[in-house]
Amino acid sequence: MIKSVKGTSDITSPEVLLWQHVEKTMATTAKAYGYEEIRTPTVEMEELFSTSVGQGTDIVEKEMYAFPDKKGRHLVLRPEGTAATCRAYLEHQMNLLPSPAKFYYMGSFFRYEQPQSGRKREFHSFGVEALGEQSPLQDAEVIDMVMTMLSRLGLSHLSVDVNSIGDDNCRPAYKEALRTSLATHESELCEDCRRRMTDNPLRVLDCKREDPALLESLPKSADYLCSDCEDHFHRLLSTLDSLKIPYRLNHRLVRGLDYYTRTVFEVISEDLGAQNALLGGGRYDYLIRHLGGPATPAVGWGLGLERLVSVLTARYPELLGSLAVPRGYIVHSDATTAAAFQLRHALADTGWALDLDVRQDGFGKQLARASKRGARIALIIGEDEVAAGTCTVKDLMSGSQTAVALADVATCLVSPCDAREPLDGFEPTQITRKQMPCGYERFAAFLKQGTLCSHLLRQVQKLRQGTTLWGGIVMSERERGSYAN
Ligand SMILES: [Zn+2]
Ligand SMILES: [Zn+2]
Repeated sequence: MIKSVKGTSDITSPEVLLWQHVEKTMATTAKAYGYEEIRTPTVEMEELFSTSVGQGTDIVEKEMYAFPDKKGRHLVLRPEGTAATCRAYLEHQMNLLPSPAKFYYMGSFFRYEQPQSGRKREFHSFGVEALGEQSPLQDAEVIDMVMTMLSRLGLSHLSVDVNSIGDDNCRPAYKEALRTSLATHESELCEDCRRRMTDNPLRVLDCKREDPALLESLPKSADYLCSDCEDHFHRLLSTLDSLKIPYRLNHRLVRGLDYYTRTVFEVISEDLGAQNALLGGGRYDYLIRHLGGPATPAVGWGLGLERLVSVLTARYPELLGSLAVPRGYIVHSDATTAAAFQLRHALADTGWALDLDVRQDGFGKQLARASKRGARIALIIGEDEVAAGTCTVKDLMSGSQTAVALADVATCLVSPCDAREPLDGFEPTQITRKQMPCGYERFAAFLKQGTLCSHLLRQVQKLRQGTTLWGGIVMSERERGSYAN
């Protein structure tokens, strides 16, 4: 049997629900901040990354998924998203449009390295880039946006590690000071750092093999900023203060490539236990010029989705269950197939997943298949129902069933929503057994507990308006759990 390629993986149901949830939350937030999606090709010319990501980096020297095509062109599967976004920006002369140009992207990226847990050869990222604006408020915006995304996903205790690495004006002096200081510690440095010390001393600062005390004693880039860089950094920090975004100055946060400028940041979640960053970003004012374009200040960040999904799974084990779409099953006979198809058209916006039996045998067999597929309710539409303009709604848990006018079926199927915040101050009044033919006792017991999440509350509001809910209420795994107790 043919297997998937080493270092790649399939994302299947039910886990794919988590991916959809994460991608949708992030994309919706990015759009709300005025960012537009950009989709660049998976394959690019190799020189795009050797020029931008840079020779001498691990990505370019060891990890690029590079290959010649049939005409001998040097192609690569994209290892990251920023360079391709900048390439597209220049290729379509978006620099002539009103700036800043603000993009978000998500998709597959590739690094040819030894696969290990959390590191795939094909991995997925979500990133944003704001091109054409140098204001520190732009840096604050991209940070504020990702904080919003992560808190909407339910991650708390978020904070930002931030640093400024200056620009062409002030960085040479800082590098020189760093070299001088490193020279006095040469014997204590790892082999790689002894080499980096001269050509790329900044990278010593994020070497995991060095003694933290030694690194802490080295000159700090923030002390060497020119007045423009210092002003930029202070305005960013005061904006973060005013937005109440917690941050920490981290002098060891650097980027080893020359086109990175000023702001460097990482977002940390204490939910992760160890102080591990969820994402990294920063300013890269010289990259577009480096790619042959006009001088264009820019800032952005990129986040690995594999890691975010696994963090969410660990933090919220019940999340996956709560994302499941309620399922119904349309049972019909030969003579009522068209009516059954029509019913499904009419229910397309309810948020339910509706299977329509296609094997066309007896109702008993169809109902058995409905249960096997995990359907909560069956919508039975036989000849009697068609004649009466109704549909029989059967709760597959309790077995109870009732006839509902076809025009009313859509309002009976409540749709699940994403919100999960408990809302209290609710009084369970005026909801009758008649309004909830299935599962009334369970629901009444649940109401007594006094708290409801907003999507349950919405269902209760429907009941208050006199709507009848067939198939009981839709609730998340978490609610079902507390229900059972
Ligand atoms: Zn080192
Ligand atoms: Zn400067």
